[in-house]
Amino acid sequence: MRIVLLGAPGSGKGTQAKQLVDHYGVVQISTGDLLRAAVASGSELGKAAKAAMDAGQLVSDDIVLGMIKERLSQPDTQRGYILDGFPRNLTQAEALDVLLDGMNQSLQAAISLEVPFDDLMHRLTDRQTCSSCGAIFNRTTHPSAVPDVCDACGGTLVQRADDNAATVRHRLNVFEAQTAPLIAYYENQGKLARIDGTRPIAEITEKFHDVLAGLN
Ligand code: AMP
Repeated sequence: MRIVLLGAPGSGKGTQAKQLVDHYGVVQISTGDLLRAAVASGSELGKAAKAAMDAGQLVSDDIVLGMIKERLSQPDTQRGYILDGFPRNLTQAEALDVLLDGMNQSLQAAISLEVPFDDLMHRLTDRQTCSSCGAIFNRTTHPSAVPDVCDACGGTLVQRADDNAATVRHRLNVFEAQTAPLIAYYENQGKLARIDGTRPIAEITEKFHDVLAGLN
């Protein structure tokens, strides 16, 4: 399996990717997670990325493409991967096609998880992420059984630094301007599938299985 998950911040990409990883034994490659790990480690790459991330802007293509190239060269990607949060603009999408071509691979599908813009604002500002295992909750739509405690591993739930109202608004605008055009890009390649991201989580996962069953 070699797929891209397209969707605005808060559309549920990360939640669905984690379900698919468990089910199919493939890896999730989230450039946001890789960048947050780099920031937390205090590396030079992390320092270079932090200001853009805090402002809700895209990190430079050079940094992100370097990270993806390195990650796709690792052996655990052999069984397949789900790209989550990458590509984020046309330059990245074109560079990905070139990179995969050089590896004698190609993407099988780009799956667009679609949620109306107004819903995303609420979802993101109410979102909580487990600081230990990365599981995602939402105070309103998908709360943990015990407030601020992860159902999966007992870890502490935290709010991401960029899930505050001002930064969220900016991230959604960046998505509209830079990432939404990728829907047409993959449609032109005959690789696009659309899924309604407003349905319950389990129902969306079923739709993913339907789409993935149709891939060769
Ligand atoms: P995410 O977790 O996917 O919402 O990403 C969080 C932040 O990391 C974004 O707001 C960007 O600043 C940065 N980021 C993640 N993926 C990319 C990417 N493919 N290109 C540029 N910046 C990215």
